[in-house]
Amino acid sequence: MKIPKTIFQKSQKGQRAYSLPKEDEAWTSFLPEEKWRRESDVILPEISEIDLTRHFSILERLNMGIDTHFYPLGSCTMKLNPRICEDVAQLPEYKHIHPLAADEMIQGSLEIIHGLIKKLCELCGMSHGTLAPNAGAQGEFVGLRMIQAYHREKKDAKRTQILVPDSAHGTNPASARLCGYEVVTIRSVPETGDVDIEHLKEKLTDQVAALMLTNPNTVGVFSKHILQITQLVHECGGLLYYDGANLNSILNLCRPGEMGFDVMHINLHKTFSTPHGGGGPGGAPILCQEKLAPYLPTPRVVQKDSSYRSVWNTEKSIGQIASFYGNFSVLLKAYMYFQLHGHYGLRKIAEMAVLNANYLKYHLRNCYKVPIKGYCSHEFVLQADRFLEKKIKAFDIVKRLLDYGIHAPTVYFPLIIKECLLIEPTESESKRTLDRFIHVMEKIVQEAKEDPELILEAPHQMPLRRLDEVYAAKFLDLVED
Ligand SMILES: *Cc1c(COP(=O)(O)O)cnc(C)c1O
Repeated sequence: MKIPKTIFQKSQKGQRAYSLPKEDEAWTSFLPEEKWRRESDVILPEISEIDLTRHFSILERLNMGIDTHFYPLGSCTMKLNPRICEDVAQLPEYKHIHPLAADEMIQGSLEIIHGLIKKLCELCGMSHGTLAPNAGAQGEFVGLRMIQAYHREKKDAKRTQILVPDSAHGTNPASARLCGYEVVTIRSVPETGDVDIEHLKEKLTDQVAALMLTNPNTVGVFSKHILQITQLVHECGGLLYYDGANLNSILNLCRPGEMGFDVMHINLHKTFSTPHGGGGPGGAPILCQEKLAPYLPTPRVVQKDSSYRSVWNTEKSIGQIASFYGNFSVLLKAYMYFQLHGHYGLRKIAEMAVLNANYLKYHLRNCYKVPIKGYCSHEFVLQADRFLEKKIKAFDIVKRLLDYGIHAPTVYFPLIIKECLLIEPTESESKRTLDRFIHVMEKIVQEAKEDPELILEAPHQMPLRRLDEVYAAKFLDLVED
């Protein structure tokens, strides 16, 4: 495949794809004259509307996305997001409301915010919540700030540590540090991927503010000791934070509140019908138990009889953490997703997520090393270290997957397993897609034996091959000579 020309290479002098209004009242009166830019040293491409349309359509087709390719990205659920939810989010009655509109004018929207918090609380066994945080990482920060406020009010100033298992998502320790906490890492048991209880006990002191836990965790293991873990932390005076970024495997099967957690976040942009990735709008509600409710950020929506109003000042709140109520279109999609599936529909999602992951894990066990035995939850780890003597690493294998039209799974995360692939098929894939994935993964093993160069030099079908992704993102070069 050839590298398409850049829009600058396609530029032809005098071509236009826009027409601005003449210097009329509307904008000349609006912009002070000294601000008008009359000359420009900015190089802009000149291109007609049809060429512009084609340019972006061609670029779009070069992408691998959930709409075009299987996308088994572990720890970052990438699944079907029903279009009907998008349609609802686009309704002008919602889209055009102003966030400063008076409560009486936006009763319907406030009802949705209030209702969504209620639905999420029921689903998770929590009692209060906020929809304001815009990303999982921000949700973690908010939850930890609430924990901090709780200990402060109890004058328990010595609690300066947050315990985080070594399998945790990188945002967990980062959020804890940002809150000024010291991060203490808890080991996992290598064979089971579960928390090492003995190590946890060693670290449980009166300095612990909270344990942050993902369950099922990022190697796809649901902790067999979860009730013991939460009890131990509570006994030493610490609180429990649940990282619920990927909730698809437990929907209406079990509830973090009943596992013993005090506060949690959910990534609506993974589990509840908003695509994840690309830096688009997200939503990460925080839910908590009664004891943390006073510290929730503002604004909060409260119901009185049959009307709703927003409350901007509550005495012990940690304050405002985002503009207004969060990304409302994301909230609408999540609300719609609840309506669409109902109680048993959500449960079916969880069952399918777990079934699909176990199906793949079972069928791939002979081709790749499976470091953690037994049933998995929504995702699982394969270890690609059998081919190292041929210099083939996990990274090369996923590059070869691209040639077969499959997006790479997560690689080299979690950090505790060398040469790992973290695979999550999600609930929305058909058996046929899963079978094809198994077939391709087997074929790559065959290729590794017979023609290692093929894999070491992959991808062969992509317009660009092995980019330094960080460099490419930081120093984007659009103007090619
Ligand atoms: C994605 C993810 C996060 C972070 O969510 P962002 O919205 O990307 O900030 C945290 N924890 C886990 C387990 C995740 O998968």
